[in-house]
Amino acid sequence: MDLFEYQGKELLARFGIPVSTGRLVSSPDEAREAARELGGEVVVKAQVLTGGRGKAGGVKLAADPEEAAARAGEILGLDIRGHVVTRLWVETASQIASEYYLSVALDRGTGQALFMFTTQGGVEIEQVAAEAPDALVRVHVDPLEGLEPHHLRELLAGVASPGEIEQIEQIAESLYRCFVESDAMLCEINPLIVTPAGEVRALDAKVTIDDSALWRQPDIAELRDSGGGDPLEAFARERGVIYVKLDGTVGILGNGAGLSMSTVDVVVVAGGRPANFCDLGGGGSAEGVVAALEVIARDPQVHSILFNIFGGITRCDEVARGILAALEETGLSVPIVVRLDGTNAEEGRRILAEAARPNLEVEPTMLDAARRAVELAA
Ligand code: GDP
Ligand code: MN
Repeated sequence: MDLFEYQGKELLARFGIPVSTGRLVSSPDEAREAARELGGEVVVKAQVLTGGRGKAGGVKLAADPEEAAARAGEILGLDIRGHVVTRLWVETASQIASEYYLSVALDRGTGQALFMFTTQGGVEIEQVAAEAPDALVRVHVDPLEGLEPHHLRELLAGVASPGEIEQIEQIAESLYRCFVESDAMLCEINPLIVTPAGEVRALDAKVTIDDSALWRQPDIAELRDSGGGDPLEAFARERGVIYVKLDGTVGILGNGAGLSMSTVDVVVVAGGRPANFCDLGGGGSAEGVVAALEVIARDPQVHSILFNIFGGITRCDEVARGILAALEETGLSVPIVVRLDGTNAEEGRRILAEAARPNLEVEPTMLDAARRAVELAA
C-alpha cells in the first residue's frame, strides 16, 4: 500500500521527523483559505500516487492566498502519468539551500534494510544511480543488529557540515524506526532539504507499507480508506477479492496469483490489454465467483471477461456453477470466455454448455480463450 505524500509526511512526523505544516484541500477556494491560515508563501502540491509531480506541473509556489487559489485551479484536474489530480496539499513554502536524498527500503536480495543517501537529491534516484553512481551511498542494516552509529557514519561521510550531520543522523534514526514499526517496504525522502538557516527537513515523502502487515497496522490501514484510493479496489477489499485495476479492456479472473498473472501475459500476447488482475484464490466457491464478477462488472472499461481456472483443490464443476449463479445474480451482459482445466473440467464444461447462456463461451486452451476474449473486447 502506497501512502500519499501528505499521509507519508504525517507518518514521518509521528516519528519526530521535521516536515512543513500544511492542509489537504480539493478546491481553489479551500486552497485560498488554507494559504490564508498558513500565512506567507505556500507551495501547492498535487496528491497523486506517482513521482515526478514537480516536472509535470503538479508542484507550484504561491506568494499569497489569491495565487494559491489560482495555482490550485491549474493543478486540479491535471493528468500526471495517468493519475488525475483531485486533492492538493498546501503547505508553508520552504527556502532551499540544498536538496539531499534519504531512503530506507527492504532489500529482498539480502533480507536486510537498505539505506540510501546522496547529497544530489531532488531529481529521481534512478537518474542519480545512472549518472553519478559514486554519489549514491548504500548501507545495509542487518535487522538483528539494528541501526548502529557506524552505519550512519558511513552513510553521511559525504556531508561536510557537522550541524547537518547531527540533524540527518537523527532523521535517519527516526526513519529507521518508522520503517520497522510501520512494517514499511520503503520510506523515501526526496528531497531532504537544508534551509539557508541550516535546518534539515523532509519536503516530500514516499512510503510503501507491506500489505500483508496491514492487519497489525490499523492506523495505517485506515488511511487507505480515507478517500483517494481506487473506489473499485476498496469495493473489492470489502468483498474479499484480490483485485488490481489495470487500464485495458479485458477483465481477467484466475484462481491463484501465478495463473492470474500468466493470464495477464497471455492476453497481452494475444494482442489485448488487461483491464484488471483478479484472483479468486484457491477456493473458487460460488460465492467467491459472484463477488469477483460483481467487482469486475463495476468497471465500465471491461468489454469482455476471461475466466481462466485450473482445477486443483478447486473443482471446475463448482466454479462452473459459481459462474452461472453469478450471471443469474449480477445480470452481467458483457461476453465471458471460460477456460476450465484440471479437476472435474469435463463436468464443468458440460454444465456451462447445457446452460447455453448467450454471453458465455468455452474455449479449450488458455491461448484460444485469450484470443477470443481479446476479439470480443475489440
Ligand atoms: P515530486 O516531483 O513528485 O518528487 O515532488 P516534490 O515534493 O519532491 O517536489 C518537487 C520539487 O519541487 C522539489 O524537488 C523542490 O525543488 C520543489 N519544491 C517543493 N516544495 C518546495 C518548497 O516548499 N519551496 C521551494 N522553493 N521548492 C519546493
Ligand atoms: Mn520528490
